[in-house]
Amino acid sequence: MNNVNRFDVITIFPEYLAPLNLSLIGKAQAAGLISIGIHDLRDQTSDVHGSVDDTPYGGGAGMVMSPEPWGSAIDAVAELVPNEVHELIVLTPAGQKLTQELAIELTKSKHLIFACGRYEGIDVRVSDFYSTQKNFKVREISIGDYVLGGGEVATLVIMEAIIRLLPGVIGNPASLDEESHTLTSDDGALVEYPNYTKPKEWRGLSVPDVLLSGNHGEIAKWRLEQARIRTKNRPN
Ligand code: SAM
Repeated sequence: MNNVNRFDVITIFPEYLAPLNLSLIGKAQAAGLISIGIHDLRDQTSDVHGSVDDTPYGGGAGMVMSPEPWGSAIDAVAELVPNEVHELIVLTPAGQKLTQELAIELTKSKHLIFACGRYEGIDVRVSDFYSTQKNFKVREISIGDYVLGGGEVATLVIMEAIIRLLPGVIGNPASLDEESHTLTSDDGALVEYPNYTKPKEWRGLSVPDVLLSGNHGEIAKWRLEQARIRTKNRPN
């Protein structure tokens, strides 16, 4: 499979992406499984103030991010991975909602570029323009129906959801199979069954006997049943 191995993030707050150097993602970078570039949008501005926004046409509150610095920044990062189709992810609460299925789909792109909006968002002509370019695929993605101050946290969420699925990133790949939104039954996708570890008793609460039985068939049956119950009772 053609897996993603290059991620570029464009933002006015490069420091916001520091957690990418930690834990699984930090280790995946150190092992050379992926490479990540963080780019300051203001490097693409020509005025002394490094302005990246302007007032909205049509009036109204807030400022809109100007297309010029975005165009220059996206063109520059596309050159880092020549001869590839670049998947441009524009973060917006109006976009397609992130799901496990979408994260899996995104693992198939070779180069992902994340455009982190701020203020009222990015002039829509940036998405419109790159949608017409044959070496780009544009996706507007939201991480849920609420409004954040910027796209940086959403980028961290999406990158973590993708990177943990890439070959070699998680020590035991079998642990990916039995997770929430990956587990399936005849009724569709399930959330995971409840997990327990030692000690057997904690504050008066015991581990269910079946998990101590060593009977793998019964354990699998119990887990599937618990996953169904949890899925059914999950608040929306
Ligand atoms: N005016 C926009 C609207 O009403 O749709 C909201 C802009 S928001 C204050 C600023 C930026 O935060 C957006 O451009 C986007 O990059 C990011 N953002 C906010 N909420 C998001 C979400 N749920 N998912 C992804 N990105 C989000």
